[in-house]
Amino acid sequence: MNVQKIKEEITQMKTSLSFLEESLKGIQQNCEHRFDGDQYYEKCLKCDKVNVLYY
Ligand SMILES: [Zn+2]
Repeated sequence: MNVQKIKEEITQMKTSLSFLEESLKGIQQNCEHRFDGDQYYEKCLKCDKVNVLYY
């Protein structure tokens, strides 16, 4: 694998990564969350969205 090829791969991966992140964000925005957890941390059972409640 040469440098050019590696750079191409990186670009492609970044593109699909941001596509996936957007898809995930869309799902989580439209989810009717059902959170489960404790007073510090809760996670939606349906979309895996995490809320940290105390730091
Ligand atoms: Zn959810």
